[in-house]
Amino acid sequence: MHAIVAIKQVPDTSNVRINPETGTLIREGVPAIINPYDAHAVELAVRLKRKFGGKVTVITMGPPKASEALVECAEQGADRGILISDRKFSAADTLATSYVLARTIEALMAEEPVDLLLFGKQAIDGDTAQVGPGVATRLGLPLISYAVSVESFDPIARTGVVHRRTERGIEVLQTTLPALLTVEKEIAAIERAPLPDVIRAAQYTPEVWSASEPVAFDVTKIGIKGSPTIVGKAYTPPPKKAGAAVKVADKGVAPTVAEALAKIKIANVVKF
Ligand SMILES: Cc1cc2nc3c(=O)[nH]c(=O)nc-3n(C[C@H](O)[C@H](O)[C@H](O)COP(=O)(O)OP(=O)(O)OC[C@H]3O[C@@H](n4cnc5c(N)ncnc54)[C@H](O)[C@@H]3O)c2cc1C
Repeated sequence: MHAIVAIKQVPDTSNVRINPETGTLIREGVPAIINPYDAHAVELAVRLKRKFGGKVTVITMGPPKASEALVECAEQGADRGILISDRKFSAADTLATSYVLARTIEALMAEEPVDLLLFGKQAIDGDTAQVGPGVATRLGLPLISYAVSVESFDPIARTGVVHRRTERGIEVLQTTLPALLTVEKEIAAIERAPLPDVIRAAQYTPEVWSASEPVAFDVTKIGIKGSPTIVGKAYTPPPKKAGAAVKVADKGVAPTVAEALAKIKIANVVKF
């Protein structure tokens, strides 16, 4: 069994601050973590490895600092970590990011067979949920998004049954392998890392791939050159003010309803 997991290192905050001049995230002084959904994807991959044997490869496109996230994945039980890092990749949008990850996965597939690709459902900073589906489309692989559990997985017969969350409830899908799953947190609860993995990780140095070695990425498809998305304006929205409260206890039902309707009319939020 060979599973590849794509992880993103993100700022450890749901309250991102944007630099008003550059429109980019303020990352200085903000601790970085593995995107929470991705940590659960690593856990699933490691569990499948323990059950079927084989290996787990983790890939990430990011600045040199993202190497620490790969060491954390080694602690969790991953066998190989690849940091795809180069100034040419910076300011990538989801199209450029999915290109780099798809080419990287193609190169790994050329080295040895791959059974499963695991992505988080979304990153907590960009929040687009576009990269996983973008990579599946580029590689022409089956995509199951918002996966919540793996009912069966057969690397020999090359099939799997996966449950995914939809607005209408849980869907049960059968797929051929390799397939790409984007996962929810409940796909696999994170367990304490076994000591041997923690010790091994302490000595582990992830590989670093540049924009030209070992894969020669098309420079017109990476970084800002490969990103059609233009950020028009980025700002931190002002915190919402609490709405006005009208209490029935003070004036009784009818006067309170009348007062509330009057406030709504003034606020012009509803057309009567
Ligand atoms: C506040 C903010 C808003 C943004 N808005 C947009 C936008 O509207 N359109 C746009 O194209 N870009 C946008 N970006 C840029 C976008 O964050 C990057 O393109 C990023 O690399 C991928 O998009 P995402 O963060 O939305 O990831 P998502 O698509 O939400 O990530 C899903 C999964 O893909 C994998 N993944 C994502 N990034 C990487 C990576 N670098 N390395 C390995 N695996 C990865 C992870 O498994 C992750 O869980 C925004 C960035 C920020 C910080």
